[in-house]
Amino acid sequence: MKEKSLTARNLKQFHTNLFHWYKRSHRKLPWRDIENPYFIWVSEVMLQQTQVETVKPYYERFIRKFPTVEALAKADLQQVLKVWEGLGYYSRARNLHRAARMAAQFGGDVPQEYEQFRKLPGVGAYIAAAVQSIAFHQPCAVVDGNVKRVLARLFAIEAAVNEAKSDKRFERKASEILDKKNAGVFNQAMMELGALICRPQNPSCSICPVTQYCVAFQTNSTDRYPLRNKRKPVPKYHIAVGVVEKEGRILITKRKEDGLLGGLWEFPGGKIRRDETAEQACLREIKEEVNLDIEVRQHLTRVKHAYTHFKIVMEVFLCSYISGRVRLNGAVDHRWIKPEEIEKFPFPGANHKFIPLLEPQRRKGAKK
Ligand code: SF4
Repeated sequence: MKEKSLTARNLKQFHTNLFHWYKRSHRKLPWRDIENPYFIWVSEVMLQQTQVETVKPYYERFIRKFPTVEALAKADLQQVLKVWEGLGYYSRARNLHRAARMAAQFGGDVPQEYEQFRKLPGVGAYIAAAVQSIAFHQPCAVVDGNVKRVLARLFAIEAAVNEAKSDKRFERKASEILDKKNAGVFNQAMMELGALICRPQNPSCSICPVTQYCVAFQTNSTDRYPLRNKRKPVPKYHIAVGVVEKEGRILITKRKEDGLLGGLWEFPGGKIRRDETAEQACLREIKEEVNLDIEVRQHLTRVKHAYTHFKIVMEVFLCSYISGRVRLNGAVDHRWIKPEEIEKFPFPGANHKFIPLLEPQRRKGAKK
């Protein structure tokens, strides 16, 4: 099927319909209808791969704690990760923090120039277009998952939305129909249309403001679009982790700052090999990772957690220190902390699934 385009007249009417609908129907969100470019930037970074409802409390806490680019630049990364803790995709927080520090070169605020802004860490095509169009009214088209789906259906685009090689095609189409004079509103309206009306399953075509321009609707093929290539199943890893106790304190280690969960704290451990039990893996990993000899006292729990590209099943053990001096292999720092001090450190979501089970240790520690 050949990809359609809108005539100039139809495009004008398309914008009118879309804007009327958006004005009437958009959700009131803490980062909507505001002018502050930094707040818009923070919200767009948080909204990547994360649901609106999840983002709301994080956004409010973040801008309360770091109300300006300058405040964020001055903050310590650990403080930033602590506020971000639980939101996932921590490279977003690390990049935002680095970008705020680099923004000092541009007068300490959000650069008002697309190319300059794009040079900052973590500012990809989506973030740059969203912030520049919404905050500074620059004529840049936003293409996120919602927009791709709407475009795929509107124009019957025969390209898989989950393939990077299709991105240019969607970007071209989004730019072709962008209302350049009202780019910020246009982008928000397209994203909102995808979120509220043109949903992945059962789009509400009967109340859609642009039905008459939609090829998928006209050809009764809304189920066919967007096209998607099958993904390989995500691998699953079985890992063992030890909460090592020594004289009322427990051992935590810090991950290096780049890479997955970079800069966060965790309990030492690693993958269970085929030829060993979870308990043996715990002993071995702790010896390899932190050079300690320990005794495994008790299996505390099993935790399941999904990341974007893999899943883990984590066996968590309570362990006692026997001997050795901490020597790190992989981690960049360690602390022997009182159990009640856990809240001071940012931990990954998988660790938070069992930290509440350490409550008896924390209470015991607090009484001392
Ligand atoms: Fe999506 Fe239906 Fe609207 Fe087309 S008519 S854009 S499929 S909601």
